[in-house]
Amino acid sequence: MSTPAKIPPATLAKLAKLGIHHRSDLLLHLPLRYEDETHLAPIATVQPGETVQVQGMITHNEVTFRPRRTLVCRLQEGDDELYLRFLNFYPSQQKQLAVGKQIRAVGEVRMGYFGLEMVHPKCRAVDDDTPLNTSLSPVYPTTAGLSQIVLRKLITNALEVLPHPDTLPESVRKRLRLADFDSSLRLLHNPTPDISASTLEDRSHAAWQRIKFDELLAQQLSMRVHHRERSKRIAPALAAQQRLTDALLAKLPFALTSAQRKVYAEISHDLAQPHPMQRLLLGDVGSGKTIVAALAALQAIENGYQVALMAPTEILAEQHYLKLREWLEPLGVSPVWLSGSLKKKEKTAAAERIASGDTMLAIGTHALFQQSVEFAKLGLAIVDEQHKFGVQQRLALRNKGVAEDVAEGRNEPHQLMMSATPIPRTLAMSYYADLDVSVIDELPPGRTPVVTKLVSDGRRDEVFERVRAVCMKGQQAYWVCPLIDESEALQLQTAIETHQLLTEAFPELRIGLAHGKLPPAEKAAIMAAFKAGELQLLVATTVIEVGVDVPNASLMVIDHAERMGLAQLHQLRGRVGRGAAESMCVLLFQSEKLSELARARLKIIYESTDGFEIAQQDLQLRGPGELLGARQSGVAMLRFADLGEDEDLLDQARLVADELLQHHPEAARAHLQRWMANKHDYLHV
Ligand code: ADP
Ligand code: MG
Repeated sequence: MSTPAKIPPATLAKLAKLGIHHRSDLLLHLPLRYEDETHLAPIATVQPGETVQVQGMITHNEVTFRPRRTLVCRLQEGDDELYLRFLNFYPSQQKQLAVGKQIRAVGEVRMGYFGLEMVHPKCRAVDDDTPLNTSLSPVYPTTAGLSQIVLRKLITNALEVLPHPDTLPESVRKRLRLADFDSSLRLLHNPTPDISASTLEDRSHAAWQRIKFDELLAQQLSMRVHHRERSKRIAPALAAQQRLTDALLAKLPFALTSAQRKVYAEISHDLAQPHPMQRLLLGDVGSGKTIVAALAALQAIENGYQVALMAPTEILAEQHYLKLREWLEPLGVSPVWLSGSLKKKEKTAAAERIASGDTMLAIGTHALFQQSVEFAKLGLAIVDEQHKFGVQQRLALRNKGVAEDVAEGRNEPHQLMMSATPIPRTLAMSYYADLDVSVIDELPPGRTPVVTKLVSDGRRDEVFERVRAVCMKGQQAYWVCPLIDESEALQLQTAIETHQLLTEAFPELRIGLAHGKLPPAEKAAIMAAFKAGELQLLVATTVIEVGVDVPNASLMVIDHAERMGLAQLHQLRGRVGRGAAESMCVLLFQSEKLSELARARLKIIYESTDGFEIAQQDLQLRGPGELLGARQSGVAMLRFADLGEDEDLLDQARLVADELLQHHPEAARAHLQRWMANKHDYLHV
């Protein structure tokens, strides 16, 4: 048995960057991929795109300066040659690759300017009888200044000195036919010669299956634990009085759909419990979540508790404010508006009304949850488009005032989160397993389905004509300008130019322009004018993505649709088809520059209008990290398991999580400790 390796502080700091804080974290720092240095490929046979090991003699070595300082070496094997290029290199490397040296190089082959080349290959000097490796070499995720060799040594040492017992009870492991933990780890860190690269690469090997299962199990366990802890915490029991809620229902110009009635009943039941609700309300764009939120708010208010309603953008928050004021003021409930763009004095005044309990309903952006805002008696927090907020913000919200309140024996608010981004089953089960979920699975009646058309850019003129025709009929249209990743300024410029172009082409139309750089008041004025029908055509950047509700709008044109993600396209399309008129969504795309992925996306959005179906396909195209938004893909994300592919493992992990908590609590604790020790926040929110 060896002793624990000493780790210098500088290395510790680098390890911390990789999320390795304890020696035991090294065990689960698994290879990203493997390099096959077990055989040599003759240079004559290598193809661009392959990652191979080749061997030859350096016959040329030169530093060129165009386009930038580059070391270029020619590696020759008989009559065949391959170039090695290095953009960043040390003098020692240049010497290592001197003319006449025999070199083994590993890397991806590509077609370069002079012919086949490898960029930044891994090289070593050899002689004729240097043996080949007998097994695959792991390549670890690392960070600047921490070499594979050092990492590998530390990991090998940790494997030797740290006890790492199997956390799964033998009976469970046997039943599920899972490999044992120790041999899985050893194999992944040090593959034996008999193992094929492909089963390690695609992570189908039994050792990977075991690790992925463990990761999913840890996630399920932590969600369960969180769920249980919540049921021990205390919230005000806000039983339905049906005074304000019935009054609102009586005044509505429509009846609730049965889906809306069902989800409100679920929420209403939760609110009546003396434990904090944490419920996610999922409903496709236009399914009518706002009225459900209003009913939930009234149930809290009729019990004498305040409600906060938060939305991710000013426009959306303001729409809620206007809508709820229209609905609730006649019932004697006046909401207060609070957003970052208010003047300081107005903000203070709003905060005072909230703190004094003068207002029962506060609506706004995340400004509502800043420290300076204190609620007199907060009973319910509602968050719209919750996926737009990062995990951290979500946690901050959950923690809002909670710690002190609980310490003082006061109550914690209930929480209702809403989202129009439908979440596929696997995602819901893993990332939202700590929430209860209600789904509005039905659209209000009287909607005519939106017809989607794919139109290539060459036929732009026809689209202009259609816009005109629709507006002349007394209906309204949106023109959404392209997303330009690289530059917000460019995006703005295209919007301004498109607005100008359309205004010149159709002097008879009243055309507005809305974009993210407008002062909020101006933006609101334009949206209001469009809503009132004063503007017939609205040229906009993607600011209208969420929440805009104009039933008279029946045409949506999305320019450069190939640049947008599926969720975004679906949301935008949901802005039309809200009234009785037949609606259309035109996806204008650049046919020459269409990537495979963009083509796949357009096909999906063209073929389906079902948000859940679209989200499922999106998950397959992009993976969960992007689906949930980059901000959510932080530490809590899975490192090894893939929700697109490992649905079976996830199903098993859910069952085993329950089983462990019930029958093997010690094992559950040990397992969480191993996987979640670093993720304290995500465990105890
Ligand atoms: P979302 O779920 O996208 O937030 P909204 O709450 O904005 O949807 O509702 C979309 C539109 O449908 C609004 O104009 C709303 O007033 C209307 N609406 C909601 N529920 C019903 C219903 N049961 N019958 C008819 N119209 C409804
Ligand atoms: Mg909404």
